[in-house]
Amino acid sequence: HWLGRKDYADLPAYAAGWDVALMPFALNASTEFISPTKTPEYMASGLPVVSTMVRDVVSGYGHLNCIRLAKDAAGFVEACADLISAPDSARMAWRAEARDCLADKSWDGIAGRITRQIDSALVTRRIADLAFPASGPKAQHHDVLVVGAGFAGSVMAERIAAGSGRSVLVIDKRDHIAGNAYDHHDEAGILVHKYGPHIFHTNSRDILAYLSRFTRWRPYEHRVLAQVDGQLVPMPINRTTLNRLYGLGLATEAEAEAYLASVAVPVSDIKTSRDTVVAQVGEDLYEKFFKGYTRKQWGVDPSALDKSVAARVPARTNTDDRYFTDTFQCMPADGYTAMFARMLDEPRITVMTGTGFADLPDGITWDHLVWTGPIDEYFGHRLGKLPYRSLRFEHETLPCEQAQPVAVVNYPDEAVPYTRITEYKHLTGQHAPLTSITREYPAAEGDPYYPIPNDAAQAMFKRYDALARACDNVTFVGRLATYRYYNMDQIVGQALATWRRLDARWQSEALTGSGAVAAE
Ligand code: FAD
Ligand code: UDP
Repeated sequence: HWLGRKDYADLPAYAAGWDVALMPFALNASTEFISPTKTPEYMASGLPVVSTMVRDVVSGYGHLNCIRLAKDAAGFVEACADLISAPDSARMAWRAEARDCLADKSWDGIAGRITRQIDSALVTRRIADLAFPASGPKAQHHDVLVVGAGFAGSVMAERIAAGSGRSVLVIDKRDHIAGNAYDHHDEAGILVHKYGPHIFHTNSRDILAYLSRFTRWRPYEHRVLAQVDGQLVPMPINRTTLNRLYGLGLATEAEAEAYLASVAVPVSDIKTSRDTVVAQVGEDLYEKFFKGYTRKQWGVDPSALDKSVAARVPARTNTDDRYFTDTFQCMPADGYTAMFARMLDEPRITVMTGTGFADLPDGITWDHLVWTGPIDEYFGHRLGKLPYRSLRFEHETLPCEQAQPVAVVNYPDEAVPYTRITEYKHLTGQHAPLTSITREYPAAEGDPYYPIPNDAAQAMFKRYDALARACDNVTFVGRLATYRYYNMDQIVGQALATWRRLDARWQSEALTGSGAVAAE
């Protein structure tokens, strides 16, 4: 039967009246390189196919039971007879086989994959452009110089350029953008965080909405286990932790609350991190989970550290084992660096990585400075050096698909030199036969990562802050410049608020004609 041209929509109805579909293509020069869409079309309509040995049918579908290959007329007859006499169960199996084979072959699916590949290639190229600028800044004068390309600097630069319409030069002494949130593919092709695990979490819809201009998100809820007494148990301490560690059968929140109340140590005036913990969970849990970890992380006993540090991980009486309880918890779908690359991809922004403030080439001038580096460095440490805690990161790729059950395992035992091990694939959702991990070793010397929340350091910071407030043409913003132990979302919020104030000032200066005169 030759039915002539038919609409796609009618194909299933026609196919339903037949047992086998035929592809008797001649094998000659004009069919040597064809890839007949007829094969998947027949398969999609639920029929087995007998075809001549067309190259793409052989290589793409020849391995399937629902596809038979025949060299001549006799071969076709034999294959058809065999297919027609097959039982219903075989037909069902062919259809399942066809569905599996065709699942990733729709035009929309293929177009979507190509688009994603192009997007990711463009982002990679943009990152490369930003990380290694071919030449220095084109213009020598910039309205604003931003020192530091982390969250604080990049948000400020984006707002000042796109929101206030001013030209911005962003510099960073590291050879990349994104500050501590920088991620990249390591030699094994695994997306890793160079400066330890960064998990985005916030309660602010506005902050999430702002960052969503530059990234899509991957839903991710962070879970941490702690290695204690030879077991991996949930951290922050929750009801499961208590039951596993002490062999208890606490079934309700009230029972867990009563248990914690029975072991808690009354502290009249909670001042230190030790006070916070023992008042909540008592001495034994303090020793097991907090004492060693904090002494390693901060180089001092929890009794010498502000209460706010350990208060970041309060114990729970329920079985919620998420590390954070914020409303929004997610990871940038293409990673942090890609998000920063889009944020800085603004015609009024020029980026120079590998350039410290002290080594800026001669002749570069600006009207206003945004400083996101350490505040004491800006003032030449004239009031003394502010203390910061540093970390050494040991990155390793392991020859297995998964190294640990969750993204982060904490090691509170003081005998273990590192504090935690991170396995990135849990955070990023990447699939690969290998996996990459990072061990964090706290250190006194090195890059400044953590401002130290104690009274002496805060007192010194306050004196620097007074100097900063007197600098009319310099804005201090970020974790190092405002000396605060802030998370990423808090820094984004701080930078957005700082920009709003700066923009309002510029607008009122424009109205009154009282523009600030460059200090440099
Ligand atoms: P940074 O990211 O430190 O950026 C400052 C930049 O300024 C740096 O790139 C630096 O090279 C540059 N710079 C400094 N001085 C100069 C100079 N003189 N000249 C040129 N450039 C200079 N937050 C979360 O929300 N979730 C997490 O899971 C999380 N995990 C963390 C894990 C670790 C190990 C650490 C250390 C921090 C973590 N944070 C996390 C906090 C987060 O890293 C910070 O909130 C955020 O990076 C602060 O951004 P920033 O721009 O203020 O500082
Ligand atoms: N902490 C601890 N044991 C843990 C986890 C945290 O003692 O298993 C203490 C430690 O002092 C740490 C602080 O709680 O510095 C805050 O923990 P968080 O995970 O917020 O630290 P960050 O991710 O900022 O390094």
